[in-house]
Parts: sequence; C-alpha cells; structure tokens
Amino acid sequence: MHARDRFRRRIIPATVTLTLGAALGALAPGGAPSAAEAYDLVIQRGHVIDPKNNVDATRDVAIKDGKIAKVAKRIDTAAAKKTVDASGEYVTPGLIDMHAHMFAGPESEYRNGWAGLAPDGFTFRSGVTTAVDAGSSGAKSFDLFKKNVIDRSQTRVLAFINIVGEGMGGAKYEQNLKDMDPGLAAAKAKEHPETIVGIKTAHYEGPEWTPVENSVKAGTEANIPVMVDFGANRPERPLKTLLTEKLRPGDIYSHAYSGLRGELGPDGKLNPGMKKGRERGVLFDVGHGGGSFAWDVAVPALKEGFTPDTISTDLHITSMNGGMKDESNVMSKFLAVGLPLKDVVNASTWAPAKAIKRPDLGNLSVGAPADLAVFTLEKGRFGFVDSFGYRIDGKRKLSTELTVRAGKVVWDLNGKAAQKWTPDPSRLPGPEDGH
Ligand SMILES: [Zn+2]
Repeated sequence: MHARDRFRRRIIPATVTLTLGAALGALAPGGAPSAAEAYDLVIQRGHVIDPKNNVDATRDVAIKDGKIAKVAKRIDTAAAKKTVDASGEYVTPGLIDMHAHMFAGPESEYRNGWAGLAPDGFTFRSGVTTAVDAGSSGAKSFDLFKKNVIDRSQTRVLAFINIVGEGMGGAKYEQNLKDMDPGLAAAKAKEHPETIVGIKTAHYEGPEWTPVENSVKAGTEANIPVMVDFGANRPERPLKTLLTEKLRPGDIYSHAYSGLRGELGPDGKLNPGMKKGRERGVLFDVGHGGGSFAWDVAVPALKEGFTPDTISTDLHITSMNGGMKDESNVMSKFLAVGLPLKDVVNASTWAPAKAIKRPDLGNLSVGAPADLAVFTLEKGRFGFVDSFGYRIDGKRKLSTELTVRAGKVVWDLNGKAAQKWTPDPSRLPGPEDGH
C-alpha cells in the first residue's frame, strides 16, 4: 500500500470532522453562507502574474473542483481544506510549453522513440501543466501517441501533428515528399479538435516548398496554425519568402534564434524578413532544443527589440541534458538578458494559449482549469548556456516550488502543501502495509 493511502485511511475521519465543523461554522445566523467557502486549496499571499487578466500584484488564489474559484486580495480560508503560503513567491498560470517531444517509445527517434520523453517526468517540476508535442506524431502515428502517451499523462498533452504521415521517425520518413498528404493531416486534426492544435513541418532538407505548402493547406482546411522547423538552409527557399509569403498570420516560426537559416544576416542585423513576418502576424517561438538557440543570434535580435512571442523548450532527451534543461530555465535565460518577468511569464502562458487557439488555458480567470505554478525567483550566481556551449551569467533564476494541475498538487519541491510531521505512534505501519 502506498504511504499516502495509509495516511489517508487513518487521518481522514478527523479531517472530515474538522471540515464539516468549519463548513457549519461558515453558516451565518439564519443559514445564509458567509464568505468562508469550502475551497479545496487556497494559495495565499503570492505575487500573481496573470497577463490575460492584467494582474501583477499580491493575491490569494482559491481552487475548487479543479477550477479557479476566486482571485482576490484576501480570501477567507476558514473553511478551506488546504492552504499554501506563497509569500515572497510568484504565482502564475500553469506554463504551456509549446514545443516539446513526448512520443517516447521503443522505435525510432522522436516518433515512438527514445529521443522523446514521458511527459509527467519532465513537465511538472518546471511548472509546465500543458505540453504541446511539436510534430513527433503524424496522421498515421497519432492514434498510437494518443493511446500510449496523451491518454496516460496527467500533463495536458496537445499536439501539432507532422505533415509527414508517419511523423518524426527519421530521414527515411521525413524526407519523403510522398508521405506529406494535407488531406490526411487535416482529417486527423478534425477528428481530434480537442487535442490536435496545429500542423508541424520539420527537418526537411530538399529545395522544394512542398512540406510548407502542404502544411499550410492542411492548416487552412482544419483551421489551425502551422509550426515550422525550416530544416536545411536552401537558397531555393529563402527564410524571407517563408515569412512574408508562404506562412499565414498566426503561423509559427520555431527555432527563431537558431541562426541556422539566416535569421541574423552577416552584418549582424536581423533578416528583414523576420520583422516583416512579425508585422504580418507570423509568431516567433524559441524552440531552444539541443541545437537551436544561439546567444550570438538572441542577444543582437533582442537589442533590435525582437523578443519571442512564445518561449518553449524543444524538450527531448538531448536538450534537457544540455544548455536547455527545462522551461523555467529557458525563461530564466530571457530574464538574464533583460526581459521583464511579466513578459517572460506572458510568453510561457497566455501568448502560447492564444497561439494554439486555446484561450481557456494560460490564465487564472474564474472558471479556468486550476493549472498553476508557484516559483521562487532565486538570487545568486547562475550560468545560462546556449546550444553551442556559450554561457551568459545571470543573477536570478526561477525555481519551481509548486505545480497544480486540475486543482491537484503534482509537484511540491519543499512540501508546502504537505502536513508537517509530528510524532504519532498511531500512524506506524501495520503488517498489511508496505510497498
Ligand atoms: Zn522540435
């Protein structure tokens, strides 16, 4: 039996009595309920950053039945089942990592392969409650991805499906123009509108525009955005044409600071196509990854005011063990080079929610899913390494204290939501307990 079950079995009756008593006590004379509501969890006194609702101030956040129930300067917790003190910490909507690879399995590369990661082991510890898989599966492999990963994860896993029917199974599949059927991709997306949020094209090395054009066709048919990893840099298909002609407003250019496809010109200035693309409404995503984030590009781009629309990891087994690490670390990198915290939070919550057309996510509006994260902004000396081995030093770093998904605490670094231990012989395990 799990230790927690044991705890629950022996302690719950007392808790129920207490809660019941508190609930009864909450009834004002005459039976009308007072302000003390029986919330499941109240996170108190944290500095809430909720860009959608323009909140950047100390607030209490109450959760009930898996939803945000109230956000206010002070919430009566007399009847709350649990409270967490977040004084001196930041409370944000659960992070949305818009570019991750989560189709882990025994086959090849990112499609049912070892390069992908099982979501829950890598998301909650960095404050991520929604991870969007970026094209690991395609129309032909999505069902397996859903069955093996999406449906088994506590993390909300959404997906851009690859324009390649088989998905990211390696060059044999990803360079095959014959397996990039827009009709098939659009049909699969329409079959799963709650999960498939976009179309991905990636890693293509040839001179043709087919992968991009077919992705846009599929995206148009299913009314969802396209995310592009532009593959090899080919003179036949320049970046500027992609950003100013081929993509639609709302489509997403990932790996924006890689420098691998001429994002920065030889003069050290941004490719004019980047700014023109942004003017047209193309979105720019970080997609840090193992080889796609260069300080050599990011620092000059930021000096020109070219900040990311969305901050994402391109999480996979290599990037997480390299300079990327996790979502909160990538956010901290942008703090280190001068982005304000509220912008960094926006680029990891509300901005990606809008980009994937899921305005129900990435915010703390009353009624929204109770997905949120509590961070300490640690002060000290920290090093932030890009994908090419270069380090920038910083003085602040986000550390994930607590993550709540659908109202449930799923990560608790220092046991804030746990009961403080005191000696109690009645809790000692009996012969039937054990693990
Ligand atoms: Zn990727």
